[in-house]
Amino acid sequence: MGSYGKFKRHTITSALPYANGPIHIGHLAGVYVPADIYARYLRLKGEDVIFIGGSDEHGVPITIKARQQGVTPQDIVDKYHSVIKESFEKFGISFDIYSRTSNKIHHETASGFFKTLYEKGEFIEKTSMQYYDEETKHFLADRYITGTCPHCGYEKAYGDQCENCGTSLSPLDLINPVSVLSGNKPVRKETKHWYLPLDKYEPWLREWIIEGHKDDWKTNVYGQCKSWIDQGLQPRAVTRDLDWGVKVPLPGAEGKVLYVWFDAPIGYISATKEWSEKTGKDWEPYWKDEETRLLHFIGKDNIVFHCIIFPSMLKQEGSYILPENVPAFEFMNLENDKISTSRNWAVWLHEYLEDFPGKEDVLRYVLTANAPETKDNDFTWKDFQARNNNELLAVFGNFVNRTLVLTQKYFEGKVPETDLLTDEDKAVFDELKEFPVRIGESLDKFRFREALNEMMNLARLGNKYLTDSEPWKIFKTDEARVRTIMNVSLQICANLSVLSEPFLPFTAKKLAEMLNLSGLKWNDAGNPGLLKPGNILNKPAYLFEKIEDKAIDAQIEKLLATKKANEENNVTVNPAKESIEFDDFAKLDIRVGTIIEAEKVPKTKKLLKLKIDTGIDKRTVVSGIAEFYNPENIIGQKVSILVNLEPRKLRGIESEGMILMAEDGNGKLCFVAPTEDVMNGSEVR
Ligand SMILES: [Zn+2]
Repeated sequence: MGSYGKFKRHTITSALPYANGPIHIGHLAGVYVPADIYARYLRLKGEDVIFIGGSDEHGVPITIKARQQGVTPQDIVDKYHSVIKESFEKFGISFDIYSRTSNKIHHETASGFFKTLYEKGEFIEKTSMQYYDEETKHFLADRYITGTCPHCGYEKAYGDQCENCGTSLSPLDLINPVSVLSGNKPVRKETKHWYLPLDKYEPWLREWIIEGHKDDWKTNVYGQCKSWIDQGLQPRAVTRDLDWGVKVPLPGAEGKVLYVWFDAPIGYISATKEWSEKTGKDWEPYWKDEETRLLHFIGKDNIVFHCIIFPSMLKQEGSYILPENVPAFEFMNLENDKISTSRNWAVWLHEYLEDFPGKEDVLRYVLTANAPETKDNDFTWKDFQARNNNELLAVFGNFVNRTLVLTQKYFEGKVPETDLLTDEDKAVFDELKEFPVRIGESLDKFRFREALNEMMNLARLGNKYLTDSEPWKIFKTDEARVRTIMNVSLQICANLSVLSEPFLPFTAKKLAEMLNLSGLKWNDAGNPGLLKPGNILNKPAYLFEKIEDKAIDAQIEKLLATKKANEENNVTVNPAKESIEFDDFAKLDIRVGTIIEAEKVPKTKKLLKLKIDTGIDKRTVVSGIAEFYNPENIIGQKVSILVNLEPRKLRGIESEGMILMAEDGNGKLCFVAPTEDVMNGSEVR
């Protein structure tokens, strides 16, 4: 048996990113970097691996974005599929296939999967009332209906949520519902859908997860599953009324597609089929052989789909294996705030690549060192800079550079032979043997931070060994000793070129080229004789460079600008108040007046004492506008004044009326005044 017991091969999937926007560091940290590290590690071990990714291209948000931009949904997904794919390639995410769910092969696969379950009688059929647009002949998805929120009166609430008060809604809750498609009032109409009876699978799910994976699944994953199951599972609709997606392959199901949660995970299978067509290899063992280890890399928001729903689908279909593990990550925050696409609070990968060319490994490193493995974690630019300068550059880069430069200097770039090994040398070689084992054990437990730190410990070991040995001090007196020191240091570099590969693939490649090594495997590591004496090394080049404050400050400023823009845009407009009768309005006596005197009310921040010529009389009004107007600048200002408001005392001054002000969502005030020169006392109505 190999290192993975009965398993002969590994199928690694990574969550399909949704193709309605580019991807950011949170995606990379939570799914793709760890999945890639693990796939690279297994490949280096000579394991049979397929690493699958692809774009999730169906669902309502894509159709909405397309409508907003006046293009087709296909245009949207074509655009973002290529943006996302390119970002992954540039960061070295080593997919064997990066597919997409709008492909024909996926439509066929998902449709076939549905049919199998349908024919086995797995689904429940249910009819329900839904809103329908008679003009465009569409059943309306929740986001395609707006109306008045029954809780707060906001008029632009969506069918699933009111963005003003945050309440979750059902479309049938909305007052005065309107179809976004036609602007008409939708009608209620009966519609039929198919449901997956998750409640029926509960006993099996309990046995498989709660009993069976108590010890090997991560506690955050196990805990979430247990809580879902304990709350009681409900049948879940597999189909919906929409015209973008995988068509429901049944007669009478026109205008219906598979729900995106149903079709997207099947995308892993379709991608494997596409890979099979390209490579000529058989796809089925990767999904149907009990000797295959299926792993889903996902973020925590996807746990229920990959641990409960998709396995239930696979199990009921009958011919598929189930995931052996689902190493879900928590979320990566940015500068102490949740990453948000709508608020543009993110570091976008395509922008990072422009701002930090050639530093893909630095980001991979920082995201792994800080990986949100067991709890949410925070990415900060200062930490990014510190980890580059103090760890990658000062330890890894510095050690490799000194070793290679000294070898050039003393031995013309030829690997020197060892002389007698001292106890220190032997201790280093003994320790060296442990690294591939220790790093591998951490990786197999999906402890990526620990594994990365262990890899860096090898660089630390080398750096300390070289510093303590001080070959530059003894070269003239003891060249034989220096030969040994350089040999030992070079062997550590050679080991680093293998053991760093899963984490820092670009760096590992450069290092291997400088050492003139190729084709080494994980099991070669630990060996103190990877470089043979007499081997010629290539010219050394820097692996890392210092990241200056200027570059970091620019990123921080960019985020501050985003924050400021968000605050400015994040102005909510209050919903309309209750209706009133005209007579209520007619009671208000509003006149045009002119400010003739103005002074600050002592010991207050906000109040000005004004004298107003109302055309009726000259009266005193206290107004809370001192933060926006200087008294000397507003003499002669025309205003609208409510003259029949009951007088009241403010700070001991009797205020006889109220100046009307317009107030925006930020609380900024400005006068409401006639646009032409109207005489004082003119009525406003
Ligand atoms: Zn509301």
